[in-house]
Amino acid sequence: MIRKFIARVFRGKKTRPGQVEPAVISVATHGVGRDRLSSGSRRVCETLQEQGHKAYVVGGAVRDLLLGVEPKDFDVATDATPEQVRRAFRRSRLIGRRFQIVHVMMGQEQIEVTTFRGELGADAKKDAHGRVLRDNVFGSHAEDAARRDFTANALYYDPTTETVIDYHHGVGDLKARTLRIIGEPKSRYREDPVRMLRAVRLAAKLGLSIDPEARRPIREMAELLENVPAARLFDEMLKLLTSGHAVKCIRQLRDEGLHHGLLPLLDVILEQPLGEKFVMLALANTDERVRHGKGTSPGFLFAALLWHEVLAHWEKLKAAGEPKIPALFQAMDAVLDAQAEKLAITRRIAANIKDIWLIQPRFDQRAGKRPYSLIEQPRFRAGYDFLLLRAAAGEVEMAVADWWTRFQNADGPERAQMLLPEAAGDKKRRRRKKSPNSAPNSAPNSAASPAASGDTPDSPSSA
Ligand code: ATP
Ligand code: MG
Repeated sequence: MIRKFIARVFRGKKTRPGQVEPAVISVATHGVGRDRLSSGSRRVCETLQEQGHKAYVVGGAVRDLLLGVEPKDFDVATDATPEQVRRAFRRSRLIGRRFQIVHVMMGQEQIEVTTFRGELGADAKKDAHGRVLRDNVFGSHAEDAARRDFTANALYYDPTTETVIDYHHGVGDLKARTLRIIGEPKSRYREDPVRMLRAVRLAAKLGLSIDPEARRPIREMAELLENVPAARLFDEMLKLLTSGHAVKCIRQLRDEGLHHGLLPLLDVILEQPLGEKFVMLALANTDERVRHGKGTSPGFLFAALLWHEVLAHWEKLKAAGEPKIPALFQAMDAVLDAQAEKLAITRRIAANIKDIWLIQPRFDQRAGKRPYSLIEQPRFRAGYDFLLLRAAAGEVEMAVADWWTRFQNADGPERAQMLLPEAAGDKKRRRRKKSPNSAPNSAPNSAASPAASGDTPDSPSSA
């Protein structure tokens, strides 16, 4: 017991230098007044402090405020235990089983309150590659700072004194616009390889440069990402792609050697000559939306990222004689299954992705009643936005996209005039429409029915 304790103290000193006395930086120096915090996070800190605890706004919010960026959300770190925090706030609940955190509701705002975490003990559970599996001991303020990833993310703001508490020279690093890892980069990446992706994302998003010490090992350690659970990678990729700086992030991932053979998704994005233009357009489009405060849909984004994969598979299957729509179903499943090994795309998002893809062949049909029923589909809007992207990338004729733009806005008589003449073959096919449904994996109303080409309800996957 005592030996373990001593070992911990010494390891702490060795691998986490500079954790003695923190710098306490006054508002005159850092310039961020308490009025810049969200009212909820301020009240949470004040209440906990009144009860005799330490409590600070921490992490991304402090970093962003120091950079003059609007924070996404405000987290609080405290020495109160999760149970103490829960008791201090009526509208609060405990989250998680191993390391519990507390969500506190203040008006519309939700504040995540975390108890200081301790240093990793020698007995911390790790996988064969050194990735930490469990990390759930409480600790001191200094230990909490030391286990965070980058110096700029280990800053604590005290609303009462308006000071920033800085154990790792984070304020100075931010001034120098450097993202520096706390401790020894290789061992920090081994503990959690996702930190490599975080480095790229944060640097791109905030216009910081990754400190050379932290940057150098990334290339050789990239393969450790293969070990990270798919759900965690999916979360991180989603954050990256919806950061408002996806184009920059993807370029930087490529520069750091983080894309190759790692995530099938990134291979797809960066290594398909035809698709690159389409993907970059989709990402630029998403970046634009994020920066204008508009929502983004993960389904739309992933549908775009994987579209050219689907196209390639689809073409192959059609060339082998598979009918058009069953071939599309098979291609979609093949592409999504290939991603699933590394990236846990949630079922709901996968359903959205399929909806968007399945609606695409239906834009070719501009005769008869079909256009009328198509624009009534709940997923029409997303499908149409996707069509615009395909047109912008040169994959479909702009005239087709324009037709749909006009058709939506036109009144009754004008719409009737716009319809293309029905091809003879089309009519025949419709007469045969009652034939049984033969698509693989399809639900009862499958768009794989012959009319997939036509008036079927929206995709079977739209759960
Ligand atoms: P964002 O602006 O994307 O929210 P963030 O830095 O706040 O960036 P979060 O995932 O919200 O990112 O994490 C909050 C804080 O938790 C970070 O600022 C950092 O201090 C700590 N943290 C998050 N992920 C890790 C990690 N993998 N290793 C160590 N510390 C981490
Ligand atoms: Mg955050």
